[in-house]
Amino acid sequence: MAEKRDYYEVLGVDKNADEATIKSAYRKLAKKYHPDVNPGEEAAAKFKEASEAYAVLSDADKRRQYDQFGHAAFDGSAGAGAGGFDFNSADFGDIFGDIFGDIFGGGRRSSRNSNGPMRGADIRASVRITFEEAVFGCEKELSLNLKDECTTCHGTGAKPGTQPETCSRCGGRGQVVTTQQSFFGTMQNITTCPECNGTGKVIKDKCATCHGTGYTSSLKKIAVTIPAGIDDGQSVRIREKGEPGRNGGPRGDLLVQVRIIGNPNFQRNGMDLYTNTSISFAQAAIGGDVRVNTVDGDVLFNIKPGTQTGTRIRLKGKGVPSIRNKAVRGDQYTTLIVRVPEKLTHEQKELIKQLDKVSGNTLNQSEDEKPKKKSFKDKFKLD
Ligand SMILES: [Zn+2]
Ligand SMILES: [Zn+2]
Repeated sequence: MAEKRDYYEVLGVDKNADEATIKSAYRKLAKKYHPDVNPGEEAAAKFKEASEAYAVLSDADKRRQYDQFGHAAFDGSAGAGAGGFDFNSADFGDIFGDIFGDIFGGGRRSSRNSNGPMRGADIRASVRITFEEAVFGCEKELSLNLKDECTTCHGTGAKPGTQPETCSRCGGRGQVVTTQQSFFGTMQNITTCPECNGTGKVIKDKCATCHGTGYTSSLKKIAVTIPAGIDDGQSVRIREKGEPGRNGGPRGDLLVQVRIIGNPNFQRNGMDLYTNTSISFAQAAIGGDVRVNTVDGDVLFNIKPGTQTGTRIRLKGKGVPSIRNKAVRGDQYTTLIVRVPEKLTHEQKELIKQLDKVSGNTLNQSEDEKPKKKSFKDKFKLD
């Protein structure tokens, strides 16, 4: 297979493009390459490429994953944490409904068979975890109201002993065809049947347990494994914990978005961490081991004599693990700040004065200058 092109490049938009720009770029390409408008293999390939790019970049979650991992985010190797994205289950129906609604003046929908097995919808939840839990991974339990097929009617929604009847409006196809004039000529629009909402069936006697919906809801506990290295806003996909499918289709997925409660001592940027470490004047001047707080506990770092305040040092491999491979870790950068004592004992004061005296006598500068008779002008030239 040829190397996949960058999605932003495919749509011809900037990396920082907003939603409206992405949509408008895709609309232009879809108009140009849609098989209805432009038959031929090359156009079809271009259309597919643009649709895939749009499916990812128009979804905030998927876009974030793509920005971080590139195409690898969706190739199945990224693991649950990156929310492996399956294009076969992507809802292009909604995208086309949205886009072609704009192009063709509304009403057009992808024609999928509503009577066939249909995958249930994905559902979303969120969980708050601490900075440390995000770094090392954790297990969480969520309580969620999940729908299950009604056991009384087995999902048909009809009272036991009765059957849903075939919809007379659409003849059970779930779709109706309407004819419409547009600037492309006469268009036949296929729309969801308003009578049966696309199910092709009408329920006369509703099941008492589920009131005709075919589903019952109950509170369920769901264990969520949050992988080490997850970042704020990323989602964990739990397969088949979404809405139940229709007509024997699989359940949708549950997407759990992770929100991280920050730790004031650690600033995170991707896999790297940033901290500050206080050191004494003596440590800065003479050098030696300083204690640096890391997510793994304190470590000793040997600094050079004459280290200046503001010096940044790197602790390799003390950052956040890669969400795709725990063994790969970012780095920690810590800025050394020379701490100036705020209170001094008499003895400390005297020793510092003594030190000062032998190293430049900075404390007595005005006395030095007194003997020199300076002109008024010179005095004000001092910096
Ligand atoms: Zn029922
Ligand atoms: Zn119908």
